[in-house]
Order: sequence, then structure tokens, then C-alpha cells
Amino acid sequence: MKAVISSGFRTILFGLGAGFAVLCGLSGIAHGEPIAAKKLFGKVKIPSPLKARAIGKYNRGCLAGGKMLPVDGPAWQAMRLSRNRNWGHPSLVDLVEKLAVDAKAKDGWPGLLVGDLAQPRGGPMLTGHASHQVGLDADIWLKPMPDRTLSREEREKISAITMLGQDKLSIHPDRWTPRHVALIRRAASYPEVARIFVHPVIKKALCKAAGKDRKWLRRIRPWWGHHYHFHVRLKCPPRSRGCVNQPAPPPGDGCGKQLKAWFKLLTRPKPKKPTKPVKKRKPRPPVTLAHLPKACRQVLGKENIPSARRDTVPLPVRKPG
Ligand SMILES: [Zn+2]
Repeated sequence: MKAVISSGFRTILFGLGAGFAVLCGLSGIAHGEPIAAKKLFGKVKIPSPLKARAIGKYNRGCLAGGKMLPVDGPAWQAMRLSRNRNWGHPSLVDLVEKLAVDAKAKDGWPGLLVGDLAQPRGGPMLTGHASHQVGLDADIWLKPMPDRTLSREEREKISAITMLGQDKLSIHPDRWTPRHVALIRRAASYPEVARIFVHPVIKKALCKAAGKDRKWLRRIRPWWGHHYHFHVRLKCPPRSRGCVNQPAPPPGDGCGKQLKAWFKLLTRPKPKKPTKPVKKRKPRPPVTLAHLPKACRQVLGKENIPSARRDTVPLPVRKPG
């Protein structure tokens, strides 16, 4: 069959193509494939010039008007500067600074080594972290800050240290100190904090050390990882329309049944190696702009959302014969 495209049909095609290009431009599609949102947010180096606002859920959202945590302060140093993740909602940046200064003055903690907050405009990241997307999450190392300013290179290379003992089920007898307890208790004491994530072994150590004052323990939630840093999560700040809070933690100090369940998980036997070859699962399609709150397009800005070029618009495939 001879393929004849009449000029009328050509006009329709062109119209379709232009329409498609507009659609693509809006949804971050290039070369016919939707772009992973982490690629778009991971590339932007500066915050959006909008009023500060945490938008969406901790693991599906973005950040307008991000504020930078200065890389050095009176009681903190930001680590891994090459990642450019020392950005957050102003209330988070203020809290990290306050915690650093308070802990130094009142708990004898020499200063904070601060890990990842968020990218300048939040959003999904190319590596690590499911959350940290709305600028309300901060990782703080459990290694005390040294008494000198670290070089850029040192901030890339120095590793955080685990607080787990050799059996991975008990706390490290030398590394874990009452100062660690005081630091985490202080972080949990601020009313704007929603949760603090630590490894179950650390939660157990805190339960043991708490004594009679146990109210703050409710906010300390066990989670995987988090044995070389703790993770501070703030509640949605006022005036953050579209920011989604997590339900409050269950009542109580979480030191009983809930912690027991975690230790059951930690000590369960490893699954046996399968004898037959396992079918590889299809990789999940990436999270795209379409999966994030609409306001995140505005946060990203038109200039950072590629539009499809006309030559990438697929034309109908001609059937042979
Ligand atoms: Zn974390």
C-alpha cells in the first residue's frame, strides 16, 4: 500500500503534534518518555523564588522558598556539601540551628554534624531517601562535631559511625553516651517536631535511659538504618497549604509491645537462598511530575521542565503491505 498523506491530514498531524508538545511540556515528557521527577528536581541548584511552603507528603512533595542551612555555624557543620542538600523549609533550618546551639550550651554536645536536609526545591532525589521531599526532614549524625572546621574534602570523606554493638542487637558500649541521650531528648522536646527516627536498638537504649520523664519517647520512632544518624521530622508549619501531616504516633512511650515487635523483625531468620533462578521483577515506573502535587510544577518552574521538541512527536507507524 502506498502511503499517501494528504495536505489536510498533514495539517491535522501537525496540530496533533503541537498539542502533544504542549501536553508534554506540561508534564515533563521528552523524547516520548515521561521524565523521572528526581531527574528534574535533582538538577536544580537554587531554591524557587516563592514564599516558603512545604507541599505534599514527606515522600511525595516539594518545597517552595527553600532556605539554606549555612555550611558553618556557631554549633554545627553541614556535611557532604557536593550533594547540595542543605536546604529546607525555614522552620526546619531554624530548628536545626536552635538544636545545635541549645545542645552545645545545655547538654555538653560539642556541635552537630548535619547530614541531608532537602534539595533546594525539595522533591524526589536521585540517590537515597524516600522522604526528605518537603523540606521538613533532617538527618543529624550521632558522631560529635570535632573542635575544628572541616575542609570540604573531609566533609565528603569522613564517615558517620554506627552506634550498634557487634551483635547489631545491642548498643555500642563505648560509643553511646549520656550526651547522646540528652541530644535526642532535646530534639524531641521541641513542639514543632513530629517524629524522630532512630534504629530500634537506639530506641531501646533511650527507653532504658529515660527514667520517669517518658513523654518525649512517644515521638522517638524505630526505623531501619538510622544507627549512625537520627532523623528529625517536623510537623507541617503554619501557612503551608497542601502540606500533609502524618497521623500522630500511637499513644504511650513505644517501649513495650511495639519495640518487642521490632526486635522480632531484627532477629528473624534470614530467608533461605532460592534454589531455582528467581524471575527478575520489572522495575517500577519512575515517579513523575504527574504523581506530585500540582503546585510542584510551579516550584520547579517552566524553565526546568523540558518540553518535547516537534521532531520527537511520534508519527503513526506505517503498516507493511
Ligand atoms: Zn533519615
